[in-house]
Amino acid sequence: MSSGAAALEALRAVARDPRSHIEAWRSIHPDRKVLGVLPMNFPRELAHAAGVMAVIVPDDQEPVTEGRAFLPEFYCGYTRNLADQAATGRFDQYDALFVADHCIQLLGSADVVRALEPTRPVFLGQLISSMSDPWAGRKTTEMMVTLRTEVETFAGAAIDDDVLAASIRSFNRDRDLMRQIFDARTAGDTAFSPVELQDIVASAQIMDPDEHHDLLAQVVADRAPRTRDGRIRVHLSGHLCHAPRRELLEVIEEVGAVIVDDDLWTGRRYLQTGMDESLAPMDALAQWYGGRNTALPCPTRVQHDVDWDAWLLDAVRRSGAEAVVHLMPKFCEPHMLYYPELRSALDEAGVPQLLIETEHEGIPLESFRTRLEALIERTHRNRPAYA
Ligand code: SF4
Repeated sequence: MSSGAAALEALRAVARDPRSHIEAWRSIHPDRKVLGVLPMNFPRELAHAAGVMAVIVPDDQEPVTEGRAFLPEFYCGYTRNLADQAATGRFDQYDALFVADHCIQLLGSADVVRALEPTRPVFLGQLISSMSDPWAGRKTTEMMVTLRTEVETFAGAAIDDDVLAASIRSFNRDRDLMRQIFDARTAGDTAFSPVELQDIVASAQIMDPDEHHDLLAQVVADRAPRTRDGRIRVHLSGHLCHAPRRELLEVIEEVGAVIVDDDLWTGRRYLQTGMDESLAPMDALAQWYGGRNTALPCPTRVQHDVDWDAWLLDAVRRSGAEAVVHLMPKFCEPHMLYYPELRSALDEAGVPQLLIETEHEGIPLESFRTRLEALIERTHRNRPAYA
């Protein structure tokens, strides 16, 4: 096995079995703490600078059992899975849980952890979601300072500004390298399969950024560019907080499509925005939060001059996508609220699209396959016919 293939295997192992990676990290760093954070806006740089391992808690594919008693069935699969992790002791890997967000269902899952594990610190730092208000910048800065104080209290150590600046550089370096791969895919390179890309991003959400970057650099050095073939070019949109099932990504390509771009959480949404290293570290954090919604709009935020549908149309034009597949976790309210706008913008632009509702409990893959085949067939009709 080449060094690049071995490095990719290591990233894949972390993405698919994060618990073992966290345990291994703990055995090497017995005096340090592990913080579970929930998507989408907690700046892990703060925890990294405090010597804490900050893991974005993934949904772990286990069926929801005891967690059923704590959140209604109409909460999204990710939040019900989080409740189940807390109810069955699978949260024990984390010394605390931090949330910096505003999705009501995520708040519900954090409340379940708080209720079930009263000794485990749970901190909610509610970042302002109304991004156009004149006080948005000030409120964001205030909340970043609060998050810093909470992280320092949890870690039992003050964060040094120079160390925070170094953490920002590390995360930026890792995001930059991932963004290069995604941008190459947008430009026509298919060297990485969608499942490989998902494993790369999912492992980045768990690992130390320098360790992740070093492995990813080996993967990239070992992989030659590959030109896109004539399959139907598809953009994947949705899944704001957790990874879609890998078999779903595979089936999209099996039916004759090639995924050319996405706005998924385990994709471009995670890596699209870097922090400005020329700013003072706390200013960089605050600007990053505001910039994320401009670089890739999020339906949990409100900003008058930014629209997810406009971003999606631009992305489709950049990548040459011929169709869009919306992957919507069942009961994801933010996605459901914005979906009509996405749909009408794509309809007006004549872009074929398909909505697939996904469920934590399993997906009817063969039924999805049939619907995807119909989309591909329909999209083929949009192509010019050559005599
Ligand atoms: S944004 Fe959607 S997927 Fe994420 S926690 Fe909220 S409801 Fe669930």
